[in-house]
Amino acid sequence: MKDDNCIFCKIANGEIPSNTLFEDDDFRVIFDLSPATKGHALILPKNHFRNLYDIEEETAGKVFKLAHKMSVKMKDYFKCDGFNIIQNNEECAGQTVFHFHMHLIPRYKGDNALKLWAPKEADAEELKKMAEDIRGL
Ligand code: AMP
Ligand code: ZN
Repeated sequence: MKDDNCIFCKIANGEIPSNTLFEDDDFRVIFDLSPATKGHALILPKNHFRNLYDIEEETAGKVFKLAHKMSVKMKDYFKCDGFNIIQNNEECAGQTVFHFHMHLIPRYKGDNALKLWAPKEADAEELKKMAEDIRGL
């Protein structure tokens, strides 16, 4: 499953050369072209999926296993102080390339590289209802 118009399909499958940190039958890990911090990398599946909704459960499991393996290696190599794993789905959530990918972002004290969200107040009744609804799906 490849999409001929997708740049990440081309990179993941080696049609466009990249600095590859890891490769196996299912994935390629590359550096982000416009990194948030030194070492910012992306896990790309070799098959084309638009985003998390389209990925099969087995591949989703493999992605997080790989994120774990890469984050441990990268933490040692970059000697970073922290690490973010980010995965955006659809435009309103910040997705700009519509081939599933997971961001691996080493963090350094004082880097001010990401502000993830502005915390709001939760409504206790609403939380209770939403949790019940979702359990029932
Ligand atoms: P997202 O906003 O989650 O869709 O992330 C897309 C990411 O892909 C951004 O961080 C871009 O900097 C990165 N990116 C776009 N094109 C390339 C490319 N050719 N090689 C490496 N990274 C890229
Ligand atoms: Zn693709």
